[in-house]
Amino acid sequence: MSMKRSETRIIHVGRHPENWEGIVNPPIYRASTVLSPTVADLRDKQARRARDEAGTYYGRFGTPTTRAFEEAIADFEGGYRTLVYPCGLAACTAALMSYVAAGDHVLITDNVYSPARNFADRFLARYGVAVTYFDPLIGSGIGALIRPNTRLVYAEAPGSHTFEVQDIPAIAEVAHQRGVLVAMDNTWATPHYYQAFDHGVDISVQAATKYIVAHSDAMLGTVTTNQKAWAQLRDTRAQVGMAVSPDDVYLGLRGLRTISVRLPRHWENGLQLAEWLQRQPEVERVMHPALPSDPGHAIWKRDFRGASGLFGVMLKAGVTQQAFEALIDGLQLYGIGASWGGFESLVLPTDVAKNRTATKWAPPGPVFRVHAGLEHIDDLIADMNDGFGRLRKSIG
Ligand SMILES: *Cc1c(COP(=O)(O)O)cnc(C)c1O
Repeated sequence: MSMKRSETRIIHVGRHPENWEGIVNPPIYRASTVLSPTVADLRDKQARRARDEAGTYYGRFGTPTTRAFEEAIADFEGGYRTLVYPCGLAACTAALMSYVAAGDHVLITDNVYSPARNFADRFLARYGVAVTYFDPLIGSGIGALIRPNTRLVYAEAPGSHTFEVQDIPAIAEVAHQRGVLVAMDNTWATPHYYQAFDHGVDISVQAATKYIVAHSDAMLGTVTTNQKAWAQLRDTRAQVGMAVSPDDVYLGLRGLRTISVRLPRHWENGLQLAEWLQRQPEVERVMHPALPSDPGHAIWKRDFRGASGLFGVMLKAGVTQQAFEALIDGLQLYGIGASWGGFESLVLPTDVAKNRTATKWAPPGPVFRVHAGLEHIDDLIADMNDGFGRLRKSIG
């Protein structure tokens, strides 16, 4: 389907109704043991697997359900191949661990998803891999941090909670000149709004739990690579053992089919909320790269085709913790909770100061993250407006 547009491809890729009596969706295959009629057949299946071809001889390697999802995501990302993982963090750690050995060095953006940072600082360090965090705005300056033993640059744009946008093409150009691979957590924009491989990324990570599953009812992660980075990811996955429930994979496939109609609504609701929030006198700054005032706006505009519904809000110094909690606790439409990317709106208090080492993070007042869901924007703004009423009453 190389000629079709992304919106069209998402609907058709990986389905193969001719294999399932014309049924639109691939069935949920549950499997551990896979029987072979003869020894020769088993040998043939094993040989096909070694050549990365379809056909399984054990459930851990996935079933036709898994392959349908992996095929669809690889196409969506514009990469070579995809592997599915039990959650987004497992996908992050697979991308980090597949390309390094004891004595190697990795460069990670300072605004990385903090559990990925925890993995690097504790797990990778335990296995003798050195980590340096870099300023998300470093651009081609990354060259000064690359050492002879650097194997991987790990980016996330915009990064978790503070939403700085890295200049991925500039970073990738320098990294590739020095023989270093570039991985990127592409969860925020998804491939619908950011084609990572077109911008020099070798390994693209999705917390598919977010906009791909999209209904807050399953956990899933994916890693997609180009041809160059594929073998190491595949081999590491076979070595560590990772199997994902076919029911969850099915929910990922089901969510994926509607992503191109959901994301524009998340973008629009998020941006309208961000603009409204920016006008409130108690707000110091809204961290959203689609706002023209945002430091990441120029790069976002150059490289991204859209924005998701996730952004940050920094309140002013005069806002007490009590006033902040009055705002958040009384919200009717926004749940207080981790994760995001579902149909519903969420808020989450955030404090990332302890997770920044290459850059300083000292906001003047409380900070929170907003996920704009698919509700009507007027209702979302009215609920937030009531919240600011409570905040003002509390400050007095
Ligand atoms: C949520 C998230 C993850 C982890 O995904 P889980 O499915 O929750 O493990 C990774 N990266 C980013 C940017 C995320 O927001």
